[in-house]
Amino acid sequence: MSPDVTLSRQIHQRALEISSRYKKAESELLEILDQIDRHRVYLKHGHPSLFLYVVRELGLSEGVAYNLITVTRKAREVPELSLLIGQGTITLSNARKIAPVMTPQNKGEWLKKAATLSHRALEKEIIKVRPQSATQEGVSYVTEKRVKMVVGLSEQDMLALRRAQDLLSQARGKPVTLEEVIAQMTGEYLKRHDPVKRAKRQIIKKGKQAKPVALQAAPPHGTNLRPTRVPIPANLLHQVRLRDQGRCTYTHENGRKCSQTRWLEIHHRIPVSRGGENSLENLITVCRAHHGWIHQEEKPLAALH
Ligand SMILES: [Zn+2]
Ligand SMILES: [Zn+2]
Repeated sequence: MSPDVTLSRQIHQRALEISSRYKKAESELLEILDQIDRHRVYLKHGHPSLFLYVVRELGLSEGVAYNLITVTRKAREVPELSLLIGQGTITLSNARKIAPVMTPQNKGEWLKKAATLSHRALEKEIIKVRPQSATQEGVSYVTEKRVKMVVGLSEQDMLALRRAQDLLSQARGKPVTLEEVIAQMTGEYLKRHDPVKRAKRQIIKKGKQAKPVALQAAPPHGTNLRPTRVPIPANLLHQVRLRDQGRCTYTHENGRKCSQTRWLEIHHRIPVSRGGENSLENLITVCRAHHGWIHQEEKPLAALH
């Protein structure tokens, strides 16, 4: 046998060993992510979500993080999934693909398809039952200040968008692009629904006066009725939203700021049950994850900013 053939065989052998370790490592990652998710370890490290923990703390790419998390959560419903990935029977990317269509009832069919079909053939099978899987939503930069957006639409929504394009063209007296239609619609939506923008308008209109309001109405004299909670006045809510600019204000003890802009709630720093008031100083915006965390852990107030 020529030295070339021997070398090539050795390299091939080594590649097989490495890829087998790689598949094993993927299924171990799935297992550990499941534990991180269940015990909400990401919160203990100052991240509002498992996704951000995987990207920022474990240093994995967004795509890999998304695949791992989707499959981790699906594997709770269908435990065979992580097993088959560990054995190398199903790739992580095929497992991610079947996650939206697989249920405990139809798992046999989809696990078989994921294990035997090519990437392309599997995609075709999924699109048959879930057409929206054909277009993966995404935004990518094309220049420093411009992005390309990919999004799938139903025919009905596309026709509605065309109708909006007609109306906007008519209003402006010249043909407009879909980009201009989306920009106009987004602007109008935010003007009406963005709590920060609404707060700004209301405060300009009504002025800043917001007195602290005692949260609990005193119980009637001589009764043991529990005090009732007074809702936060709208004007005060506007001030909290304007000050916090629609972001979670939680800062973890390791100095990491959350700044999550989604799933926001209002929290009383001194709880209502301990006499905390509806006042600007006592109210903060926090994301749902950190809100739960604060109440669960009863973190010292110093941790909140
Ligand atoms: Zn709270
Ligand atoms: Zn947060």
